[in-house]
Amino acid sequence: MTNKLDTGGPSSHWDRDYLVCPYCNYIFQDVIDHLKYNCGQTTCERCSKVFYFSQNIEITWDSKPLDCANGLSAHQWKDKKTYRYCVACEAIEYVEEGGE
Ligand SMILES: [Zn+2]
Ligand SMILES: [Zn+2]
Repeated sequence: MTNKLDTGGPSSHWDRDYLVCPYCNYIFQDVIDHLKYNCGQTTCERCSKVFYFSQNIEITWDSKPLDCANGLSAHQWKDKKTYRYCVACEAIEYVEEGGE
């Protein structure tokens, strides 16, 4: 069983800081102003060939403690009509109608 990932080969330009024409290596410096979409077709300004592009969105991670979810602090409840939720940990507590 082969588990080879398709890396696109030497003619692929997907991992660059700039969008690069796969035909003539023209660099689109102003790619953000130039293109309205994250992916699609565009025509190279230099060689006039049509090519497909897609933007690689880097995924980053963030973390923070959630004391209220661990019982270390009180929830920061935000009241809604039929329920309330904690703005910190997004816990939901449904409010009983006619209760209290
Ligand atoms: Zn080109
Ligand atoms: Zn909470």
